[in-house]
Amino acid sequence: MTKIGIPRTLSYYTFYPLWKTFLEEIGLEVILSPPTNKKTLDLGVQETVNDACVPIKLYHGHVMALKDKVDFLFIPRLVKADDKNTFCPKFLGLPDMVRFSREDLPPIIDPTFRMKSLRASLFGFLYNIGRQFSASKTSIIQGYLRARKAHKKYHYLLNRGLFPSEAMENLNSPLREIDFPGPGKEELTLAVIGYPYSIFDPYISGNLLKNLQKMGIGIITPENISSKDLKTFSRYLPQNFFWYYSNRAAWAALHLINKAKKIDGIIHVTAFGCGPDAMLNKLLELEAKHHDQLPFLSISIDEHSGEAGILTRLEAFIDMLEHKKKAEGSKTA
Ligand code: SF4
Repeated sequence: MTKIGIPRTLSYYTFYPLWKTFLEEIGLEVILSPPTNKKTLDLGVQETVNDACVPIKLYHGHVMALKDKVDFLFIPRLVKADDKNTFCPKFLGLPDMVRFSREDLPPIIDPTFRMKSLRASLFGFLYNIGRQFSASKTSIIQGYLRARKAHKKYHYLLNRGLFPSEAMENLNSPLREIDFPGPGKEELTLAVIGYPYSIFDPYISGNLLKNLQKMGIGIITPENISSKDLKTFSRYLPQNFFWYYSNRAAWAALHLINKAKKIDGIIHVTAFGCGPDAMLNKLLELEAKHHDQLPFLSISIDEHSGEAGILTRLEAFIDMLEHKKKAEGSKTA
C-alpha cells in the first residue's frame, strides 16, 4: 500500500482527523511521525535556516523522522481557512521550505488549502488530491463525507474541553462514553493561550499542561472555545492580526477575560522567532492589566528551553495566585 507521511506538528493539531480520514478512504496508508523528542528537535534545527521560528524548525525534524518510511509527504500549502484570516507566511511557504531543505526527500503532495469555508471549498481541495492518486469518484465522495464528519466531531470534542490527543483518541467513541471535564471543579483556572502546535506538544512546551494538571489547575485553551464565541471577539479590536492562529489566540483570550470571567490568570506560550507573537504578547499583557490586573505570565519556548526551567516559573506563578486568592478570600470573609 502507498504510504503517505504526516508530520505531527503545526496543522496536525487542527486538521489531522480530516486529512487522515480522507487519505485512508482513498486507499493510502497514513504514517504519522512519532511524538517530538530531543532528536526530532535537533534534526529540525540542523535542517532549517537559523532565523526560522522554533515550530518551523520542529516541523523539519518531523519530516526527517518520516522521510525514509514513506512514499510521499503530505504538506498542504495552508493559505486560508475562512474568508478573512490568512495563515502566517511560514505556512504559505512551508512545502517549498521543506522541498529545498534536502535532496533526498520523498515527493511532496502540496495542494493549496484556500477555504472560504469548509462547506464551500473542501470538496474541490480533496477531489484534486484524490485524482493525483487515481482514486475513484465514489471513494473521493465517500472520503469527503467521512472526513468532514471526523473534522466536525473532533472540533466538537475540543470545544467540550478535551485536548487534541484526547479528542483524537475518542473520535470513534459514542458521546455518552466520553469523560468530559466538569466545569470549575478546581480552585484555580488558567487560560493557556498560544498556538496549538506550541501548547499541546509536550516536549516543546516543557510538559506545561501536564504539570499544571498535576498541580490541580483547571486549564482552558483557545481550542476549547467555540467558533461562535471567537467570532464575537473578532469585532472587538480596531484592527485584527492578519494571521489565522494569532487571531484565534487573541480572540480566545479576549473572550475569557471579558465574557467568561472564570479565569484566575493567563499564561501566554510564545514561540521564539515568531514575529506575530511579539505583538500578541503585548496585547494580551495590556488586556490582562486593564482587567483588574489579571495575573499574566509569558513563557517563551525555544530549542534550549527545558522542562525544569519552565516548571520553576510555573510554580512561582501558581504560588502567587494562591496567595492572591487567599488574600481576596480573607477580605470578603
Ligand atoms: S505564527 Fe509564528 S510560530 Fe507560527 S509558524 Fe508563523 S512565525 Fe512560526
